[in-house]
Amino acid sequence: MRAPEPRLLGVAGCPIGHSRSPVMHAAALRELGLAWRYFKLPLPPELFAETVRALPAVGYVGLNVTVPHKEAALEIADSRTPTAGAVGAANTLTFTEQGIEADNTDAPGLIAALDEPPGGRRALVLGAGGAGRAAAWALREAGADVSVWNRTPERGRDLAAEFGIAYVERAAGAPDVVVNATSVGLDPDISEEQALEALGLRVREPPATLVDLVYGEHETALTAWARRGGSAVVDGLEVLVHQGALSLERWTGRGPPLAAMRAAAAHGGLDIR
Ligand code: NAP
Repeated sequence: MRAPEPRLLGVAGCPIGHSRSPVMHAAALRELGLAWRYFKLPLPPELFAETVRALPAVGYVGLNVTVPHKEAALEIADSRTPTAGAVGAANTLTFTEQGIEADNTDAPGLIAALDEPPGGRRALVLGAGGAGRAAAWALREAGADVSVWNRTPERGRDLAAEFGIAYVERAAGAPDVVVNATSVGLDPDISEEQALEALGLRVREPPATLVDLVYGEHETALTAWARRGGSAVVDGLEVLVHQGALSLERWTGRGPPLAAMRAAAAHGGLDIR
């Protein structure tokens, strides 16, 4: 049975007020000429499962999922992609006749956002939380030589052991690609020195490619440092755009309009309709 019109999409999180996904997806749907709607769903953890199970009946065909629900999203799904299973988290749910399908587009979204394929490059992932797991797995699958560092070493060592990658105590040496998958940079007042110190980055020169998953109103200290040093910089918005594009393609079967999504995401909370 087809979902009733208009078909609905959304993003569930707690908190969710800051999310740029609604404005980004609204722009994409307009560009595609689809009269679908995309909503913010502020859901506390205790309401997540029952609310998500009720969504298909009111017209939802898909849902993005963010902090703190990515693991719960994987658990309530009837089926999961190999990527979602390996990362241990889902950011994309699709409601089908067969039930709830869980996918993880954070991982391939990161690879799609890179300036060049990471195969054979030395990559260092800073952080071993949800985003760090997705980044480390994606880079390893794409053929990079991956190391991970984490503020709490035990968590980083556990991740390294699980994925068969190296754990580094401090980011010395010269990785080709560095991915900041920590929350460092969310505070806009942090200085470059403080950011490098918090991330254990004791490298003199920025890497050839710096990916900072953190995004906000202003450029992060880390991306400013890397840009000045001549790195190719991939910011968190670009990764957001690519993971969203992959989700949208899964739901609609249409090629996502990246330029419209990028422009809308850069406008932040402003709906540019
Ligand atoms: P998470 O699971 O809570 O993990 C947080 C990570 O940050 C952990 O590795 C934690 O280390 C580290 N950390 C926190 N404060 C730190 C500090 N002061 N110094 C050093 N390390 C610190 O969160 P997540 O879901 O992985 O998200 C991490 C970041 O990525 C967030 O800023 C999120 O917004 C961003 N993100 C962006 C996208 C995108 O599309 N652009 C997608 C997903 C996530 P410990 O283990 O030591 O606590």
